[in-house]
Order: sequence, then C-alpha cells, then structure tokens
Amino acid sequence: MRILAIGAHPDDIEIACSGTLAKCVQRGDTVIVCHVSSGDLGHVIIPPEELKVMRANEAKKAGSLAGIEVIWGGFNDLDIYDNNKEARDKMVDVIRYANPDLIITHDPDDYMPDHTAVSKLVFDASFTATLPNYKCSVHKYTTDDTPAKLVPIYYMDTLAGVNFNPTMFVDVSETIDLKIQMLSCHESQIVWMRDHDHIDFCDMVKTCSRYRGYQCGAEYAEGFKQCQVYLKGTTKRLLP
Ligand SMILES: [Zn+2]
Repeated sequence: MRILAIGAHPDDIEIACSGTLAKCVQRGDTVIVCHVSSGDLGHVIIPPEELKVMRANEAKKAGSLAGIEVIWGGFNDLDIYDNNKEARDKMVDVIRYANPDLIITHDPDDYMPDHTAVSKLVFDASFTATLPNYKCSVHKYTTDDTPAKLVPIYYMDTLAGVNFNPTMFVDVSETIDLKIQMLSCHESQIVWMRDHDHIDFCDMVKTCSRYRGYQCGAEYAEGFKQCQVYLKGTTKRLLP
C-alpha cells in the first residue's frame, strides 16, 4: 500500500500518527509524509528564514528514522488558506505525486487555523486530484496531470485529543519508542513548546498515546476517525 500523511507543520505527523506510520513501513508500505508549512514561525527567538532550514533538517532526520519519504507543501506558518486555487493545486500536486491508497490528515475540528485549513485543503484536493482532465497549475513534484485514485481519508488525533473520539485504533506499543525518537528530532519545537505552551512535549505525546491505549486495550495506541462521505468509504481495514 501507499500511504500519504499530510500535516500542517513539521512535527504534527510525529505527534499524531508516527507510531502507525512506522508500523506501515514495517509491513512493507510506502509512506510519504508532507509537511505543508515550513514551520518558520515556531520559535520565540530564531528568525523565520533560519528556522525554516533547521526545521527542514529536523523533519528529514525524523522521517529517515522510520524509512519515510518527507516532502513539502510550499507554505509558511499562518499563511495557509483553503479558499484559493493555488493552495488547492499545491495539494493536488502532492496527492498526484504520492498516488496514495490512503490519506491521513488533520481533523476538521483541530485547534488552530493551519491545521483546519490543511484538513479542508486535503479534503478538497483529494477529489480534485482524481479528475483526469483537471489541469493542475502546480508541478513541483509531478510532471503531468496523471490523476490519483479516489481513496479514503482518515483524520488523525487532535492535539492532546481534544474534541476527538477515535473510531479506530492502532496498537503502537512496539513503535512508541521510535515515535518519541522521531519527535525528539524536532529539537527546536521541544524548546518552543516549553517556552510558548509551557509543556514537556515528549511527555505530552507519550501520555496521549498511553491514554488512547487505555481506550482500546493496548499499552500505547493512536486513534483515527474515518472521513465518512460519498465514495470515501471502504470495507477493508487499511491501517495495521
Ligand atoms: Zn501544527
């Protein structure tokens, strides 16, 4: 299977579903992660241009730990809007390039505008990308307009699980250590979360995975919700 996970900022995917993605790689799937934004505003002191480079390196390192290809959506922080063609086409380009069997992204009800905009953009682009006669204005990753398949979307957990009731779980007990290692690659964000949100990042993520584990009889787990709309249903279990 080919799996495309699209998160707003470098680290969102690691927080919500990297234990699952690591398991997918282990069972033989091709996993591509797209960080939509460069993450340029995620620090109190480091200026955006410098931070961008740091975060790209952190994200690459995190992906390589689990055998995941890392690509970029081409936006900056707080500059993701879901109501224009250029933005949608950037996601169409990514989806057509990855040609996934399953897409994972943010829940529409997450906590900040980049997350909710990405959720909507991915939803819109995932349909658009399947139309053979749709001319995409962005060709950063693709060279032509070969359509993608119409596939299910699974929403990953929100930050700290707020307003999110999973309808499916993945046991990540075997990959929880790798998940925390991947998260730890985002060194700039561990500092940012401490200074801006006053939290211990790794502890929060591990605790949330433990909490989801309690809900499904596993030591550690990650939760997902399927996007239930016309043509996006499936009878198959796609996650490990
Ligand atoms: Zn984020």
